[in-house]
Amino acid sequence: MTSTVTFASARPVELRGDATLPVLLDRMLGQWEFEKRFKDKRVAIKMHLGGGVGYSTIHPFLVGRVVKAVIEAGGKPFLTDSAYSVESARERGYTQEVLGAPILPVSGLDDTYVYTKQVNFRQLDTVDLAGTIVDADAMIVLSHGKGHGCSGFGGAIKNLAMGCVNGSTRGKIHRLMNSTFEWDASKCTGCLLCRDNCPNDAITFEDGKISINDHACKYCMHCVLACPNKAITIDQEGYRYFQTGMALTTREVLRTFEPERVMFVTALLQITPFCDCWGFTTPSLVPDIGIVAGDDIVAVETASIDLIKAGDFIEGSLPSPLKRSGTGHLFEQIHGKNPYIQIEECEKLSMGNRKYELKSVD
Ligand code: SF4
Ligand code: SF4
Repeated sequence: MTSTVTFASARPVELRGDATLPVLLDRMLGQWEFEKRFKDKRVAIKMHLGGGVGYSTIHPFLVGRVVKAVIEAGGKPFLTDSAYSVESARERGYTQEVLGAPILPVSGLDDTYVYTKQVNFRQLDTVDLAGTIVDADAMIVLSHGKGHGCSGFGGAIKNLAMGCVNGSTRGKIHRLMNSTFEWDASKCTGCLLCRDNCPNDAITFEDGKISINDHACKYCMHCVLACPNKAITIDQEGYRYFQTGMALTTREVLRTFEPERVMFVTALLQITPFCDCWGFTTPSLVPDIGIVAGDDIVAVETASIDLIKAGDFIEGSLPSPLKRSGTGHLFEQIHGKNPYIQIEECEKLSMGNRKYELKSVD
C-alpha cells in the first residue's frame, strides 16, 4: 500500500505569481476534500507560533490561506499553541485580524486544562493531552519542518507530541533522554577530561556536579572513553526512548479524532537546525523546498525528511559550535540522531505507512 503526499514547490517553474507557493498551496489544499472533512466542524489548526525573536515560523500569509480554505469548506477554524507562544504571537504577526481565526491557548491560560491518558512507557506513565485539542472535532497539523536537538527532525510528530500536551508531560518526554546518562559522583575526581574531550560542548560542571545537554550531545561516547575512572555511562538508546515517547504521545492525540478528520500540512521553508521554541532564527540550511500535505502522518513525515537533502546544504549556514560530521541524513550529521526513528516508532504503532507517492501540484 502506498499513501499519497501532495507537494507544492517553493521553486516556481515560471516567473508568474500564480506559479508561486501561496497559489500552489491553495490548489493543493483544494485536492484534499476539505468540505467532506471539515464542514460544520470546529477545526483546530495546531502550529508552533514561536517565541522570543524567532522569525522562521510559518509566515502568517500562508497560515491565512489554510484558515481561508477551512472557512470556504464550511468549517470553523481556530489556531492553537501553548499559552506562552499565544501570549506573544502578535509580535510575530499572528493575530485574528491577519489570520481570520481566533488563537487559543492549547491547554488553557494556566496550562491545566488537560485530559490524562495512560501510556506506560518507562517513566512516561501518563500523558496530559491539551483540552482544546481533545475538544475539537477536526484538526490540521500545520508544522514547520526543521532540525531538532533530541530527535534530529521536528515536524508533525513533534508538533503533536510536544505541542498538544502540557508542560509537565513535555518535561517527562524529554527526561526519557536524560535518564540515559549516568554519572557516579563517588568515582569523579573533577579532572574535567570528559568536558574537554566533548566535541559538542555538551558537558558543563557546576558546584562539582556534571550536566549533559541532551540537545547538544551526539552520543559519540568520547566522554565515557576519556574518563579515567569510568564515572560516566551513557545508554546510546537514549534518543530512541525519546522518539518512542513522542510516537506514543502522538498516537494518543490522534486517537481523539476520527481519522478522516485530520490533515497534516508541513512547510519545508526556512529550515533551520533548531526547533522554533529556541526563540531565535539562524540561516536556512538548505534552499526553501515547499509544502507537503497528506492524511497519513507517517507518509508526510517521511516525505518531509526525504526532501531535505544533505547535498543541498548551504555552506556558512550552520552557526558555531554546530558542525556536520559523519554520514547519513543532514540532520544526523548535525545532531547525531537519526531523524527517521520517530517515524519507525509511529509505523510500529500502526499509525501510517512509510511508502508514499509524491504528487506535485502545478
Ligand atoms: S557522548 Fe559525546 S557529545 Fe555526548 S556528552 Fe559525551 S562527549 Fe559530548
Ligand atoms: S573525566 Fe571522569 S573523573 Fe574526570 S571530571 Fe569527567 S567524570 Fe569526573
